Amino acid sequence: MEGCIFCNIASGETDTDVVVDREDMVAFRDINPQAPVHILIVPKEHITSIKEIEGEQCALLLDMFLLANEIAVDEGVAQSGYRLVINTGEDAGQEISHLHIHLLGGRFMKWPPG
Ligand code: 5GP
Ligand code: ZN
Repeated sequence: MEGCIFCNIASGETDTDVVVDREDMVAFRDINPQAPVHILIVPKEHITSIKEIEGEQCALLLDMFLLANEIAVDEGVAQSGYRLVINTGEDAGQEISHLHIHLLGGRFMKWPPG
């Protein structure tokens, strides 16, 4: 989608620290990390948020979570623990209107979130 920063990153148009680049999704380091490990898992297809997920996209979403698990192992946080977050809409603070999973790890995290 034109003007979408995550579509631009997914198509390789930006200078971004990409961790995984697959046919259907990309994972890259957050520009403003909130933990020692802060990676975003993003489908290449422009989906605005998890609210819009339907049909075959459900399999894509599952694959995004599986990739997050694999990256957690690669980043060395699978044992210590990690948090997967999908902000959705205004109250949750969704800033980028292109579906993404935050993978956060490498430090102790409080609950509930702020
Ligand atoms: P949201 O608030 O939408 O759940 O999260 C958006 C995330 O994208 C934020 O953590 C923000 O730091 C990150 N972000 C925004 N723009 C860019 C960018 O251009 N490059 C990268 N790597 N991360 C970005
Ligand atoms: Zn997009």
